Formats: sequence, C-alpha cells, structure tokens
Amino acid sequence: MIRALLLPLLVVLLAACTRPAAERHDTQLVFGTLVDVTVYGTDEATAQRAFTQLREDFRLMHFMWHPWKPGPLGRTNELLALQAPFSANPSILPLIEKSLPLSQASDHLFNPAIGKLLDLWGFHSDEPPHGPPPDPAAIAKLVAAEPKLEDIEIHGVVMRGTNPAVKLDFGAMAKGLAIDRGIEALRILGVKNAVINAGGDLKVIGRHGDRPWRVGIRDPRGEGVLAVLDVHDGEAVFTSGDYERYFMWQGRRYHHILDPRTGYPAEGTRSVTVIHSDAATADAAATALFVAGPKRWPKIARQMGLDQVLLIDAEGGYHVTPKMQARLKYARQPERLQVRDPAAQKSQR
Ligand code: AMP
Ligand code: MG
Repeated sequence: MIRALLLPLLVVLLAACTRPAAERHDTQLVFGTLVDVTVYGTDEATAQRAFTQLREDFRLMHFMWHPWKPGPLGRTNELLALQAPFSANPSILPLIEKSLPLSQASDHLFNPAIGKLLDLWGFHSDEPPHGPPPDPAAIAKLVAAEPKLEDIEIHGVVMRGTNPAVKLDFGAMAKGLAIDRGIEALRILGVKNAVINAGGDLKVIGRHGDRPWRVGIRDPRGEGVLAVLDVHDGEAVFTSGDYERYFMWQGRRYHHILDPRTGYPAEGTRSVTVIHSDAATADAAATALFVAGPKRWPKIARQMGLDQVLLIDAEGGYHVTPKMQARLKYARQPERLQVRDPAAQKSQR
C-alpha cells in the first residue's frame, strides 16, 4: 500500500530531487491517492492560503463525488433507481453536464453510467479487488440494459432516471475536474507557478523558475519512467493504466477499466497518456482511448478533439500522435512505434 502511494510521487516531478527554497509543497490523501500541490516562487502567506483552500475544496469534492461511500452521489444513485422525479443535488449536475458531451464524443467508451458493472466486479470497495470474476450471465444482463447518461432526464434542477441499470461513477473524470478547479483557485489566489499532481495525473501553471515544469510518464510494466517531457502553463497530463487497480485470477489480469460494450476489462492496452488544457477532458479521454485500444484510438481521439496521445499496447508497442512524439524524451528508444495523426482520420458515421 505504502509503495503504491509513494510510486507516483517518485515517478513525477523529477524536479523534486533538487528542491530549492522557492518551492513549497502540501500533500493530502484524497480521491484514493496522494495529491501533491507544489507552488514555486510564491510568498509563504499566499502559499499557506492556497494549501488551506485546496485541502478544503478537495475534501469536499472527495465527499460529494465518492462512488461508493454515502454522500450526494450515492443518494443521487438511489433516487435515479426509483425512476421518479427529484431535485438534483447541485454538486452532481456539473459532473453530468461535463461528462455527457465527452461520453458522446467517445462513442460511449467513456461511460460514467456503468457503476453497476463496477459493483459487480468488486471495484467499489475499500478492500483490494479480488477474484473470481463475476458470473458471465450477470455481466451480460447489465451490458444488454445499455446504461448511459442519456437515460437521465434533466429539466432545470429536476432529474429522473429512465433506466434502472444506470448507476453513476465519475471515477474516470472527477480527478480531472477537481484538478481544473484547483488550478483555477490557485490562479485566483495569485499563484503564478504551480503543479497539482494526483498520483501522476497533473496540471501546471507557469514554470519552475528558469525552466518549464518537467514530468515523467510511468512505464506500465516497470518501476521507472518511459519518457519525460516539459509541461507548459495550463497543460494537463493524465494517464490511465491497467496497473492501477487489478486482481490476478488463473494467470490473467482483471483491471478496473471496463469496456462498456462487453462488461469485461478492456483488452489490448496497458496505458494511455493524454495532454490537454482541460484536465477533465484529458482524464475522460485517457480512459476512453484505453478502451478504444491500439486500432481504434485515432478515431475516438479525433472525435474528442485530442492531438497529444501516447498509447502503450498489450505487446509493449507504442502508438503516438505527431505532436506528442515531438515532445517526448524517451528513456529507451521504443522498439515498435507507430505515429498516427487523429486529424488525418476520416469522419465516420
Ligand atoms: P481512470 O483511472 O481515469 O482511467 O478511471 C478509472 C475508473 O473509472 C475506474 O476505477 C472506474 O471507477 C471508472 N471506469 C472504469 N471503466 C470506465 C469506463 N469505460 N467509462 C467510465 N468510467 C469507467
Ligand atoms: Mg480517466
């Protein structure tokens, strides 16, 4: 457990090795990971104000959006299941509004309505997930019910569920939205240079003194980083990986990113990294492209408006956009690398 928490900190922010006095940190355990806020060149009083506010904001978001602990999202899920109108909790509506276009652009590969499938697989628990995998008939039944965000009617502040198979889980995007909000709060407080880093998923403001912020992308099958890159003001870098939450059963890995079309963990991908100015988009997109896999990712990337993607496939092959390729400094030159431009994809109906 301790190792799992420490790794992301080691992976990211190589800059931390030589920490000048101008750099200040605050770390909090939230969203199931260590969230580290680093500010650079900020006076002590402003830094402390920022740390206090972010602690409070993240704690609240953690409570409001938690997928299985009692709270506003749990209550919303109970009320959706009743299929009767109810007044929506104001902390949940923005999540739905933000996710709906992303889910549609991803052909519903990013689908925050599959909470019941995640329940079935045992990923809604404080305990580590474990085998055996669920009953195939139960999986097939939930997949056939096709839960999606569109099954929620919203009229002003009144909501109604229309499909009892819907259960909301924003785990694939909430961290991104929280980091966007955190960065916005830092800017308002007058912080000019900062990184908010949640276990390797991060967004930056400004620079680290006389150079840009530099981060590493974790190797999905190693202890180290597979590449480093400079990250510039307002950019977010998000990675989805099959190594984050999983169990082994009869020699197979069952991880936490489910393919909504099959109800089983998505196959063909080890990790996906996305860079985008909007952290919520980067977060949702990394999950969606993970599900899309090494063949289909450029189509989904084009639909989601992405131009910076790195996907590592199940055989260890690298798939990358031209813009991402131009800025990655690989630790080892990849043996198999395919550069594909989502913009060159034909629009398909
Ligand atoms: P991430 O690490 O951002 O890829 O998010 C993974 C989390 O998102 C999982 O732990 C689930 O809570 C949830 N999730 C898994 N599969 C999907 C999916 N296909 N669409 C939306 N959310 C998902
Ligand atoms: Mg995600």
